[in-house]
Amino acid sequence: SIGDLAAVALQRARLLQAERHQRELLELEHERLKATLASMGDGVLVLDDSHKVLACNRIASELLELNESRMSEDLVLKLSRAPDRGEAELIFNDRYLKILSTPLLVRGEAKGAVLVLRDETASRELELMKSEFLSMISHELKTPITTIGAFLELLQSRGFKENRRRYFLSICEQECKRLNTLIDQLLSLTKLEAGAFVLDLGEHDFSSLVRETLAVYSETSETHKFLLVEPLPRNRVEGDRNLLVQVLGNLLSNAIKYSPKGGSIKVTIEETQSSLILSVADQGVGIEAEKLDFVFEKFYRVDNSLARETGGTGLGLANVKHIALAHGGRVWAESKLGHGSTFFFELPKKAGEKSDV
Ligand code: ADP
Repeated sequence: SIGDLAAVALQRARLLQAERHQRELLELEHERLKATLASMGDGVLVLDDSHKVLACNRIASELLELNESRMSEDLVLKLSRAPDRGEAELIFNDRYLKILSTPLLVRGEAKGAVLVLRDETASRELELMKSEFLSMISHELKTPITTIGAFLELLQSRGFKENRRRYFLSICEQECKRLNTLIDQLLSLTKLEAGAFVLDLGEHDFSSLVRETLAVYSETSETHKFLLVEPLPRNRVEGDRNLLVQVLGNLLSNAIKYSPKGGSIKVTIEETQSSLILSVADQGVGIEAEKLDFVFEKFYRVDNSLARETGGTGLGLANVKHIALAHGGRVWAESKLGHGSTFFFELPKKAGEKSDV
């Protein structure tokens, strides 16, 4: 009987050991499952029949701001619109989420749902930007072509006096120039944005470059007083001459265009340890504070009567920004509505070296 007892004890010990081993395996399996869920790039949410959260990974809880195990009625309602099997969309907290839903099958019976949540906000915004870009481009191209077409038709329809004819043709020429500028700016921006651009670097006397460009632009307006503040730094900077002239041209023509009543246009060049900072200050219409950040976006034009009168593409400052970035510099603006604006362009003395200001 002692032998029997010993055999039973041995049997029990073996069973206990097997059970412990089984438990360890289960725990390992559980850990693995948790790690898989946690490492997934998408959000995963498992709900039972009564919308209680059975499992949820970090991304899902961040996307849906879940901090309790049960979800708000509102969210349940939104999620329940996802079909049993298939895709649905949900806009939550300004984020665009795609939901893939499948039934949670327990022994062949549906006992809830497994939802995979994908944050598609960024790609959605990109899509929107692309289609906005296309519709804006088409509009900008169509407007001058329509005008040119209309005037050419008019000219062909009957004989006009010489001065009328000249006037119509001058409008056509103006619109052609507008088209040309638009296409030039677009091509330049596309190249700069794609980064597929090699700077034609050279050493230039920045102050002389500014002085020369200012001389050209001051010829274009009689109502403005142009001022180049002395003394000017005598540093040479590394940069792409054509692009730097393009920046100066854009800033100066804007200063002229957006101060239709005239006034002074003051240009300064300040020197810091590693960079030169050009500023162009006008006394024009100015820009509201909340719109200031957007003026460097492509196609952005502050919506005022002047924008309609002056005509423009909204691409000039976007180009300026990209040229600054390509040189390792930056741009920014200060403005007071009704009192004028100052645009700053910072250029490192050595192209590509980050400025320290
Ligand atoms: P465009 O002049 O062709 O419209 P820009 O990209 O050069 O395009 O400028 C974007 C917008 O920023 C302009 O439409 C204008 O509303 C505003 N802006 C630019 N420069 C000035 C300035 N000096 N004063 C006031 N507003 C300006």
